[in-house]
Amino acid sequence: MVDAVQPAIRLDVVIIGAGISGLAVAIETALSGHHVVVFESAEGIHEIGAGINVSPNASRILQRWGLPAEMWTSATEPTSLSVRRYSGEILVLEREFDTKMRARYDAPFIELHRVDFQTALYTRAKELGVEFRFGMRISKLNYETGEITSHTGLSAKGDVVIAADGLWSVCRAQFLPKDFEGVPRPTGDLAYRLVLTLDQIQDPELREWVSKPSLDVWIGPHSHAVGYSLRGGTEFNIVLLVPDDLPNGISKQAGSVEEMRALFTGWDPILTKFIAVADSVKKWKLMHRKEMRRWVYASSNSNFAFLGDSCHPMLPYLGQGANSAIEDGAVLGRLLGHIQNKEQIGKALEMYEQLRKPRGDAIVKETFAQRDVFQVVDGPKQRERDELLLSQLNEEEKHAPFPIRLVCPQVQPWLFGYDACAEVDKAVSKDPFVVAKNEKTEPSLDKRGIAAGS
Ligand SMILES: Cc1cc2nc3c(=O)[nH]c(=O)nc-3n(C[C@H](O)[C@H](O)[C@H](O)COP(=O)(O)OP(=O)(O)OC[C@H]3O[C@@H](n4cnc5c(N)ncnc54)[C@H](O)[C@@H]3O)c2cc1C
Repeated sequence: MVDAVQPAIRLDVVIIGAGISGLAVAIETALSGHHVVVFESAEGIHEIGAGINVSPNASRILQRWGLPAEMWTSATEPTSLSVRRYSGEILVLEREFDTKMRARYDAPFIELHRVDFQTALYTRAKELGVEFRFGMRISKLNYETGEITSHTGLSAKGDVVIAADGLWSVCRAQFLPKDFEGVPRPTGDLAYRLVLTLDQIQDPELREWVSKPSLDVWIGPHSHAVGYSLRGGTEFNIVLLVPDDLPNGISKQAGSVEEMRALFTGWDPILTKFIAVADSVKKWKLMHRKEMRRWVYASSNSNFAFLGDSCHPMLPYLGQGANSAIEDGAVLGRLLGHIQNKEQIGKALEMYEQLRKPRGDAIVKETFAQRDVFQVVDGPKQRERDELLLSQLNEEEKHAPFPIRLVCPQVQPWLFGYDACAEVDKAVSKDPFVVAKNEKTEPSLDKRGIAAGS
């Protein structure tokens, strides 16, 4: 069911980037009744062939958006979540994970193929009247006038300009001076990503594993692995997280399957048998960025906002990068539905930042903390971790703080229980957008936060 607010005026909203964050904010903004144009540098919607976890904090939003039924049919719902030591010993096992998620959060935890997911978001955005300009790389932004210019020299202007251009954001680079901002930095880890289809898998044990969807994590020294089924149990997604050995300046490269297999020699035979099936693989350097001081900028002539990886890239160790981007999109789009005149856009952006930035920045930190737990080397710290996990193996309710955050009774409700629409509605009822004569939200300080940070 689509429950959207309708604004008193229709804004022109320009979005840069048609990744998950750009599509998310496009959908919610169009649902709020505004005219939306998305500029995307690629020639079409391009997602890589890999899986994605969509947790209840985001699936709750997707349920509202009226996405095509095909997406929901292709989704897989893991019936268990397990964490194993790299030898294969089970340390954490959440049975009936699917049922628990729905009961606790009234929304499912699902696994999607990224192609299916992005196709569904794009289809819905088109249905809602969002316009797409493909093959348009935005190379220049004027933060004072609100004008953006493509590499071909085409210019556009919006009442609101939204930067959804990912980790290597040009918008971000031009928002902040180079010496202040810097560039994406290596986290020290890289990901091997592979998707296997049932046709490739002969081993009956592996075939059964794929056809009974579960979410499995193997943790070991300096590395870990995540596996889950896709497309109704006909494909298997594996991500292997290992120390980064890609040269500086290379963020993505074809990997060697032999090298990948060697890194996991001696790990759980189930995992190594899956890895053995792969005949090609890609390596992705995992990058992060300095925390951004501000996510919004408003002047008398322009209004800018950042979302998704452009402002909070994170390690994928809680599977939250895209989920957070969907939350961002829902909050920003819904807030824009409340404004009654253009002068209130600045206020909506301020509220967006207040609602989203503390949470986004906190999740980033949690992803690094989770790495420290997953990738501990064998020794006293690892034994202490394993003893704690094993001491609660058979307990239905874990005790906080539980080091595996996705099942921790404190962290899980904070992550999965978040309700973007409710957060907006609560904030707006506390501080309503009432029309006052000559009302204007003046930009406060330097919205880029430079003065505060330097
Ligand atoms: C191994 C791995 C596993 C992950 N697993 C999960 C998971 O399970 N769950 C989860 O929630 N997240 C996961 N993530 C994170 C998630 O993929 C990202 O956070 C998310 O895709 C970011 O979306 P985005 O739209 O902000 O950025 P992007 O996906 O980078 O999209 C940016 C878009 O902008 C376009 N663009 C860039 N520059 C310009 C320009 N100048 N002009 C016009 N267009 C431009 C690009 O072509 C692209 O289409 C994972 C990440 C990795 C690396």
